[in-house]
Amino acid sequence: MPTVYLVVPCYNEEEVLPETVRRLTEQLALMGERGLADERSRMLLVDDGSRDKTWALIEGFSKENPRVCGLKLAHNRGHQNALLAGLMEARLHADCAISLDADLQDDVAVLPEFVRKFTEGCDVVYGVRNRRDTDTAFKRVTAQGFYKFMRALGVDVVYNHADYRLMSRRALEALSEYREVNLFLRGIVPLIGYRSDYVCYDRHERFAGESKYPLKKMISFALDGITSFSVRPLRLISRLGIFVSIASVAGLLYALISHFLGLTVAGWTAIVCSIWLLGGLQLLCIGVVGGYVGKIYSEVKARPRYRVEEKAGEMPPSPSGQDGGKGV
Ligand code: UDP
Ligand code: MG
Repeated sequence: MPTVYLVVPCYNEEEVLPETVRRLTEQLALMGERGLADERSRMLLVDDGSRDKTWALIEGFSKENPRVCGLKLAHNRGHQNALLAGLMEARLHADCAISLDADLQDDVAVLPEFVRKFTEGCDVVYGVRNRRDTDTAFKRVTAQGFYKFMRALGVDVVYNHADYRLMSRRALEALSEYREVNLFLRGIVPLIGYRSDYVCYDRHERFAGESKYPLKKMISFALDGITSFSVRPLRLISRLGIFVSIASVAGLLYALISHFLGLTVAGWTAIVCSIWLLGGLQLLCIGVVGGYVGKIYSEVKARPRYRVEEKAGEMPPSPSGQDGGKGV
């Protein structure tokens, strides 16, 4: 039986926490009965620098309920960092970890389904929303537009998947090698590349309390996602530069013809020609610089360049120890 950790980031969640703990305890017990989670399985509540009684509650629960453990971050570092902190802790104790929100929007009834896929050999299991009718129309439209835009920019994101997912210990080890500061987990996890599967679920309304993701945070999260995974915006500048440069030739012809037909005032031709040509050349040059900046950006991130998924045949271990299949 695997040891399963449920990793739950909590930011000012005192209103929902008692219910969350109750339901997750129930699910862990259920998974225990079905042979999907052993008795060392836990829920790991990560307090992301809350300003209300969240941490006091977590401490209280952990004293009376052996299934509950907590992690307290010193500052509010945002959902993604809180999640990472929890996952990196879980990696040390569990065979697999499932991340979910504290507000019970992610349907906890499908938790056993995640673990079942894990026992069948999946390293990553994505929770995918069936419907979005509990979201506001605005959130629905912007979120779906975002997924499509990310795809168009060449970023491999799973459609309608947020951060409800299971990762095996090996996938967590892999995740720990991505050392980027601007975290966008749903972009990184597909890059890990191990065997994955999906679990569909219905997204509920928030059980209690208010969303901790106001529009401002949402926009900065979306921009982070784009700029952390794609250098295509930089390339677009180059293309625009080429386009404007070519267009400037047409502008040049137009200006010269106007000049010789005597339709212009003195000096106009020279000004118009230089505006177009220089504008195009400047964009092109910025684009070239952007190309190099893009390279620096990927080098600085120093992501692992490859990952060995499986090995075949007997290979004697090297005397200096195993490489653990990690990318070098
Ligand atoms: N959260 C967090 N730190 C933050 C903001 C949110 O840990 O700075 C947690 C929050 O407690 C919740 C999850 O992230 O468990 C998702 O937040 P929320 O439900 O408010 O977002 P929404 O579902 O409205 O997008
Ligand atoms: Mg929520």
